[in-house]
Amino acid sequence: MDNWKDVDRPSGCFDDAVHALPGIGEKRAAALAALGIITIGDLLFHFPRDYRDRSVIQSIADVSPGTVVTIEGEVTSARSLRLRGGKSMALLTVSDDTGAIKVTLFGRGFLVHNALKKGTRCLFTGTASEYKGLALQNPEYEPATSGDDADKLHTGRIVPVYPLADGITQRGIRRWIFDALKRLTGAPPETLPATVLKQHGFPDVATGLRHVHFPPDMQSGKQARNRFAYEELLLMQCCILKRRNACVETAVGIQHVADGRLLDRLRHMLPFTLTTGQRRAVDDILHDMSAPRPMFRLLQGDVGCGKTVVALHAVAVAVDTGNQVAFMAPTEILAEQHYATLHTLLKPLGVRMALLTGATPNAGKVRNAIAGGDIQVVIGTHALFQKQTVFQRLGLVIIDEQHRFGVAQRDALGRKGVTPDILHTTATPIPRTLAITLYGGMDISVIDDMPPGRKPVKTVLTPEDKRDDLYQYIRTQVAAGQQAYIVCPLVEESEHFAQLTPLIDHYTELTEGAFAGLRMELLHGRLDPREKETIMMRFKAREIDVLFATTVIEVGVDSPTATVMVIEDAGRFGLTQLHQLRGRVGRGTTQSWCFLLGKPTTPEGRQRLDTVCRCDNGFDIAEADMKLRGPGDYCGSRQSGMLDFRVADLLQDVRLLDAARRDAADIIEKDPELTAPEHQPIARGIQRFNDMFT
Ligand code: ADP
Ligand code: MG
Repeated sequence: MDNWKDVDRPSGCFDDAVHALPGIGEKRAAALAALGIITIGDLLFHFPRDYRDRSVIQSIADVSPGTVVTIEGEVTSARSLRLRGGKSMALLTVSDDTGAIKVTLFGRGFLVHNALKKGTRCLFTGTASEYKGLALQNPEYEPATSGDDADKLHTGRIVPVYPLADGITQRGIRRWIFDALKRLTGAPPETLPATVLKQHGFPDVATGLRHVHFPPDMQSGKQARNRFAYEELLLMQCCILKRRNACVETAVGIQHVADGRLLDRLRHMLPFTLTTGQRRAVDDILHDMSAPRPMFRLLQGDVGCGKTVVALHAVAVAVDTGNQVAFMAPTEILAEQHYATLHTLLKPLGVRMALLTGATPNAGKVRNAIAGGDIQVVIGTHALFQKQTVFQRLGLVIIDEQHRFGVAQRDALGRKGVTPDILHTTATPIPRTLAITLYGGMDISVIDDMPPGRKPVKTVLTPEDKRDDLYQYIRTQVAAGQQAYIVCPLVEESEHFAQLTPLIDHYTELTEGAFAGLRMELLHGRLDPREKETIMMRFKAREIDVLFATTVIEVGVDSPTATVMVIEDAGRFGLTQLHQLRGRVGRGTTQSWCFLLGKPTTPEGRQRLDTVCRCDNGFDIAEADMKLRGPGDYCGSRQSGMLDFRVADLLQDVRLLDAARRDAADIIEKDPELTAPEHQPIARGIQRFNDMFT
């Protein structure tokens, strides 16, 4: 909101404090400050959240009760009626050539002595009613003093509706913005090149501002708003592309050879054929890797779609070319699991591998082997990128499931020598607009299909009184050779031990009660990595029937015979998190079930859980999640400034973003440093977005 000052904007009245406007004193200035409005420029960039079309003026004779009408007429009688409590009411009769209507305004008795006294011409908008003749109660009103249409603010035109704060009324802010617009003389400096304005039919800054607030027609208002949204998106895109260019120009990449022996053997060894989505992703990746420019790609696909197999192709290509691969996972558990998976597949092919996490006992030895080039593929946590780890010839970095491995981190990697190819994988289904914003500098491959034979997990909201039945169902499933998860929304890895108590109590209750005789284990973030691993391996080996866990299992545990998941207090999880969690079941061919416990207390909460039950597609869920929670929340935490667009809306503006992306690519291609006179305002404007990549 207050970022506009960083953007190249006209000086003059823009920078004046709002006090400069008539009717704004200390109190109102303070109220406006609560909306982030300090200067007249801020005020002008406080855009309407909606409009009311009050442009059509009806004859009084045509007014029908129950409809919203705008009329214009003369006040032919006016009196004030005193009410109890010191208030008063204005009672008017308003007439035009066709008829008369009664108008009452509560608490506005004083108006009959000035603005609405007998004989004034006036406009009213309100819902007509029928009570001893036609009537309007508490309509919007506006004296038609000047007779100039342009001076109408509240009726008789398309009227803006603003976001408000305490102490600010629609009438007040409309008036102030109207006055501020009047002061906007001359042509304020323009950020967008003339060609761009013309190409999209966008108005210039001054016209744009006028039309956003007081549009002559709905289309102009929309187009003006789009102009400013587009401007933000274009600046963001230019910023991303300029930085990306800078990286690529200085970066020395590796041209990997994508037809080596290991790749060939891997292809022959796979016990299945790749899905179309997987094949496309592999093509993208191999194409990138064999190009001289370093790869910087995001591989996105729902849980279980087979990203690991795709990544393995990249590993094979790097190793074939004589380079090392670093495979980075967000947690030790996941690193260990990936190690186990890759080990099974790559060891028989003679690939030399190692695991390196904070828990690795002989880390020094492993590091030596990496530095000496004896290890070809190392899997680990961020310990991989500590200073002590020196690679002999790092050619490929795969980063699994970590939000925001940005340009800055990539630059850091590049500084270690040649810039390795980077493949970032994520199961978090990120709505496209958001992905472009968050992962702006990256190319994106999406796997949008699933290996054949998968049955979507059936998800049901389960009432508390069905809990015993549910436990009984789990017992029968276990008897049939299946496994189950019980997930509780507790204990993040960093949380305090004391918070484990309810979890342990619940666990104990079940082991002694409903699940007596079953093999149960408790898995949470406070266990040490060895213990966790042991439990997970035992679960996978089917030595455990029911795994009682926290979200530790969100990414990690993988057992095809796990077919039931119970999620306690489901309302406390995010939608995408619930979707990720249930991805732990349904990994085999048996129909799997996910039971959501915990009754939602609000309609919104209910709607959220219904969404998860209804959709099995991660992208739909992500979009719903973003709609319900907003893009900032969706990403877990508000990333500083980066999703705080003033005008643009990542849910709505998909098409504008596409256009901005294309135009930005054009601009940066022709003028990489943005030194041309028509691009200098853009160069200044992108400062604001620069922060988000550092
Ligand atoms: P992700 O990492 O995307 O969650 P994984 O790579 O772990 O998914 O794959 C999930 C499971 O699906 C693995 O057991 C894998 O062997 C199997 N799989 C992957 N691709 C295919 C395929 N094309 N056909 C059959 N099974 C596959
Ligand atoms: Mg390359």
